[in-house]
Amino acid sequence: MPVVPMPENKEAARKQNAETVVSFRGRGLTSKQEIQVDVKLGSINSGIKFHVLASKTNSYVEIGATAANVVNTLRNVVLGKEGTRLCIVEHFLAAATLWGLDDLNVTVAGPEMPLGDGSAQIWTDLFEKAGIERKTPASTIELREPIILTKGDRSLLALPDNKFSVHYMMDWNHPRIGKRWQSWDASRNVTEITTARTFGWLKDHQMLGLEDDVISLTEDGFTQPLRFEDEPVRHKLLDLVGDLALCGINPLKFKAKFISILGGHEIDVEMAKRLAAVLSKVAN
Ligand SMILES: [Zn+2]
Repeated sequence: MPVVPMPENKEAARKQNAETVVSFRGRGLTSKQEIQVDVKLGSINSGIKFHVLASKTNSYVEIGATAANVVNTLRNVVLGKEGTRLCIVEHFLAAATLWGLDDLNVTVAGPEMPLGDGSAQIWTDLFEKAGIERKTPASTIELREPIILTKGDRSLLALPDNKFSVHYMMDWNHPRIGKRWQSWDASRNVTEITTARTFGWLKDHQMLGLEDDVISLTEDGFTQPLRFEDEPVRHKLLDLVGDLALCGINPLKFKAKFISILGGHEIDVEMAKRLAAVLSKVAN
């Protein structure tokens, strides 16, 4: 992992950023392979683009980080194009969003983003060590009216507000979780959500061979000590931020309160589509 010091001169810093590549090599959750990821800053307003190795042709396929390119949301967010897929993009997108990195070219030599410890920390550590300054974007985009999405017992609302915030309410039939709610906005430290790890039932993880990689829920506790007493609900907020980034711009730019009740990737991606529609109206 290269450590790139920031030059003092602003112009030199900008130039260096445009050329800087931060690299990471880590194990994939499902492929169990070591996957190389190279992150390069893209040109202004180009958005986040993945360049994914297509194993059949040994060439790279460009897949934009947009809701239109989402092909699966069952366990994680999967982007796809021309038969090439990239799984588990949400934690990386959350890290980039919270760091204010809106224009990136991300080259991935495998079918999924490395999982790290199941939080977004591998990526934020990488940005920090490379000397990339974290910038919280100003919330400038008005939401003219509420967007209300419901699917079964899950809901996701976007309400007009004077700043960006995310709120999540979960209800898991587990003695250490139960009903939990948590919120995040830019006045709070990003580590309150970027360090929160993914979780799931031990029996599901055993079925998938993941029990050693991530936090699993046993009948009355967890297989690993938690970083926060309410780490699972904080991870849900992290997922929500990463999923909303699929609207095509940094979602922190919206003056909106996002309230998720039992939500998940599927309804989040639907919201990202609706936000993209709002943006196309603003542009026209
Ligand atoms: Zn997640």
